Amino acid sequence: MRFYAGACRFVYNKALALQKERYERGEKKLSYVQLSKLLTEWRNSEELAWLANAPVHPLQQKLKDLEKAYANFFAKRADFPRFKKKERCQDSFRYPDPKAFKLDQDNNRIYLPKIGWVRYRNSRKVLGELRNVTVSFKSGKWFVSIQTRREVEKPIPKGGIVGIDLGVAQFATLSDGTFYAPINSFKRHQDSLRKAQQAMSRKVKFSKNWEKAKIKVQRIHARIANIRQDFLHKTSTAISKSHAIVCIEDLQVQNMSKSAAGTKESPGKNVQAKSGLNRSILDQGWYEFRRQLEYKLTWNGGRLILVPPQNTSRTCPCCGHISEDNRPTQDKFECVECGFKNNADLVGAINILSRGIQILRDEGQDTTDALVGMLAGSLPASARMACGSNRTGGRKQEPTETVAYGGNYA
Ligand SMILES: [Zn+2]
Repeated sequence: MRFYAGACRFVYNKALALQKERYERGEKKLSYVQLSKLLTEWRNSEELAWLANAPVHPLQQKLKDLEKAYANFFAKRADFPRFKKKERCQDSFRYPDPKAFKLDQDNNRIYLPKIGWVRYRNSRKVLGELRNVTVSFKSGKWFVSIQTRREVEKPIPKGGIVGIDLGVAQFATLSDGTFYAPINSFKRHQDSLRKAQQAMSRKVKFSKNWEKAKIKVQRIHARIANIRQDFLHKTSTAISKSHAIVCIEDLQVQNMSKSAAGTKESPGKNVQAKSGLNRSILDQGWYEFRRQLEYKLTWNGGRLILVPPQNTSRTCPCCGHISEDNRPTQDKFECVECGFKNNADLVGAINILSRGIQILRDEGQDTTDALVGMLAGSLPASARMACGSNRTGGRKQEPTETVAYGGNYA
């Protein structure tokens, strides 16, 4: 399996190098069909004859993956495709043809072409018609993922519409005042990660002890990733189960994965700590969160709405005034026009919600009473009063209290 994964990585990198050269020379990139033909040539060549020992479908899949990576890059959804490194431990290969493998669930075994029957530990029952199988290697373990297709009854979504502001101080703030605190359990892992990395740097590179130290570092990375994934899943499940429509900012992937640095509007507090060491810890996983929310909402019959992110943190939800001065500090919002005060993240979430409702209206959806009521309901009473008071007079009557919203820690 390691050999197959290595062959796949080799083909991906070779094709990427080729495309990169063409890109730099200003030539058109090769299509999947052209690359596929090249792959056949490589497999038949004397120099790369060893590639013929790996199953051809997984190799072709890698070319398709590369095609997708390019498409994502040109659509500005992702960075330029990167070479796959062995050290990064993301080896995987996929069998796209369901006729090529067999699944024997009763005996917990799967038949893979050119490999034979392999035992596995079942995490859940495989339901429906088999589509493809992916074999991957992560922090010392091999995994097999089986994709299937089946008919399910269209569920009726539960709950109403909500806006979510993703941030650094709070992981997620909902327009109804609920918030999800970020995971803080990384401190301990941060220390042990640093120690493990230091220990590794003291060893002679590629020596036995270095390899051992490396495994230790990888395990801590995996642990951090698992904790985050668990947190993201719990949060996205909770939100998608209780809401039919969720509105979220349409941020570029780059901004979402570089969340620690914050945005120009709201810079992160931990920028100086954003070294290579801490990157895995500071990455909040916003993009992954959005991905999970989207598919979980779809499963539940709901929907995710992406709203334009411009000025969500500077617009007054009360009078509509847009100004940088509305944000005197990172977590405070105070409108210079009408005096409306509130927590900045909550203001962001309310603005995101109202933009989501606008999108529904533009689509011609029924956004009458129920939805608008929900928007009004998410504005605290003091805010509505503040708006009225501004129209009749001075700023002396501005609200003096901000709403203390109830915590809902995940
Ligand atoms: Zn205002």
